[in-house]
Amino acid sequence: MKILIARLNHETNTFSPVPTPLKAFGIHGPDYDQDAYRANKGAKTAMGAFIELAEQYGAEIVTPLSATANPSGPVDAEAYRVMTQCILDIAPGCDAMMLDLHGAMVVEDSDDGEGDLLERLKTICPDVPIAVALDLHGNVTQKIIDNSDVIAGFKTYPHIDMYEAGWLAGRIFLDRLDGKITTALAWRRLPLMTHTLKSATNSPSMKAAVSQAIQIEQQGEVHAATIMAGFALADIPAPCLSVVVVGKDQQSAQDAADRLAESIWANREGFVYTSEPLPESIARAKTMKQQAGIAHPDCGTARGPVLLLDHSDNCMSGGTCDTMDVLQEMQAQGLTNIAVGPLCDPEAVARMFVAGEGSSVSLALGNKRELSRMGIHKTPMQVTGTVARLALGEYVITGPTYNGMKCSMGRTALLELEGVSIVVTEQTHEPWDLGVFTCVGLEVSLFDYLLLKSRMYCRPVFFPIAKGYVECDSAGATSSNYDLFPYRRLDRPVYPLDDIDSYA
Ligand SMILES: [Zn+2]
Repeated sequence: MKILIARLNHETNTFSPVPTPLKAFGIHGPDYDQDAYRANKGAKTAMGAFIELAEQYGAEIVTPLSATANPSGPVDAEAYRVMTQCILDIAPGCDAMMLDLHGAMVVEDSDDGEGDLLERLKTICPDVPIAVALDLHGNVTQKIIDNSDVIAGFKTYPHIDMYEAGWLAGRIFLDRLDGKITTALAWRRLPLMTHTLKSATNSPSMKAAVSQAIQIEQQGEVHAATIMAGFALADIPAPCLSVVVVGKDQQSAQDAADRLAESIWANREGFVYTSEPLPESIARAKTMKQQAGIAHPDCGTARGPVLLLDHSDNCMSGGTCDTMDVLQEMQAQGLTNIAVGPLCDPEAVARMFVAGEGSSVSLALGNKRELSRMGIHKTPMQVTGTVARLALGEYVITGPTYNGMKCSMGRTALLELEGVSIVVTEQTHEPWDLGVFTCVGLEVSLFDYLLLKSRMYCRPVFFPIAKGYVECDSAGATSSNYDLFPYRRLDRPVYPLDDIDSYA
C-alpha cells in the first residue's frame, strides 16, 4: 500500500492587495519530499495525523509537498502550478491519497484551487480514493465533493483541532480501504455568507451547529459531520456556509446534512455580525477606561488597558496591517496613552533604521497598501516623533496558541509620538503574544489603550491583562461590513446581502 500525503493550505481574500507568490508558502517557500515529511511528522497538523495513521497502517508514504501561507490575495498562478504539479507527478502509482487542504483557495486564474486539484487527480487516477481534511473556513464546491471520497474539517475556531480533523478523516478512510465500513459523501450548501467573527465556535449559532454535528457523530448515525462556515471575503459564486457529512450510505448521509442545514438556516441571523460605526466604538472604549475598578466579563483585570481590536485589518484574513482609521479616530476623540502594534510599514522602518535610536523623525506612516480591489484610497499619516528603540523583531510565543514557536516580524522600530507608542514592523504579523511589544521594551499593561490589528488570536494572551475590549470596524481588507466589498460574481440572492426566506 503506497499512500500519497500532502498539504496545501491557503485562505484567499480576493479583495486583499497582499500578494501570494511561491515564497509566501513557508519561511523560504514550500517544503518538498523529505522536508515536507519532517515539517509534519509529530506536528499537530492534519498532515501530521495522516502520517501517523499511515505509518501505523504499515503503508509506504510519499510526501511531495507541504505548503501553507497566511491569508492574502489570489495565489500566483505559476506558484499554484508548481505546487500542484509535484502532487500530480507522483500520484500515478499510489494506492490512496490523503490531502491536508484549506478549501478557500482562489488562484489568479481559478476560483477553486482545491476543486481543480482534486479533479485533475481523479482524472489521472480515477480508481484511487482520496481523503481530504479541510479548514472550517473552506468554501466547499461541487467539484470538491465530486472528487473526494472522505472529507472532515475542523470543529474549532480559533483552530485548535487540525490534528483531530486529520485523524478523523484518515481513520474513516483507512477503515474504508480495509472494507470495514462503507462511506457516502453528502453535502448541503446554504446561500449564507457568514461573518468570520460569528464563525467562532463559542459564538452561539456556530456553537449550536457544531454541537449538533458532534452529537450526530457520537450517536453513530454517520462517520463524520462538519460545519464549514465558509470564507465570505472571496468574490466567487458561493463563498458560503455548507455542511459536509460522511455517512454509511447516501440516504442517511443526506438526511443528516439536510437536518444540520435546516437548523443552521433557522439560526442564520446568528451568523451575521453587525458593525458598530467606528466613532461609537471609540467613544465606548473611552467610557470603559473611565469606569474605575470594573473589568469586562471576558477580561481579567479592572486596571489594564482597554483593547481595541481592529478586526477590519487583520493579517490572518488578508489584512494589510497598515490602515490608520482606528488610531486617527482615537486621536480625534482625544484619547492618549495608547500603545499600537504591530503596524506594518517597511518604508517607515527603513527610515527609522537610517535615523537611528534616539533620533527625531518626521515621516509618512501607514495607509500605503492600496486597497484597489475595494476601490479604497487612503493617504498616509504625517507624523513626527522619536525612534525609541530598534530591534530584530523576534520573539518566542509564551501564550497558549503556538506556545514555544519563534516569531519574526522583520526589522522592528518603536516609534514614540505624543500620547502614542507604535511598534512598526517590516512584515505583517498577528499579535500572538506580548513578545510583539516586549521585544522593543514596551510594557503594555501601563497603557490606557492597546490597539491590536487582531480578530481572535490575540484573545487568550491579551484578554487576561486587559480591563475590557471593543471590536472596531473600519475600511480595511477584512472588514465585517460587506457593503465595502464590490462583489461582482456572487450567485444571488444570498443572505445577508439579500433578504431571503427559503433556500434551494
Ligand atoms: Zn480558518
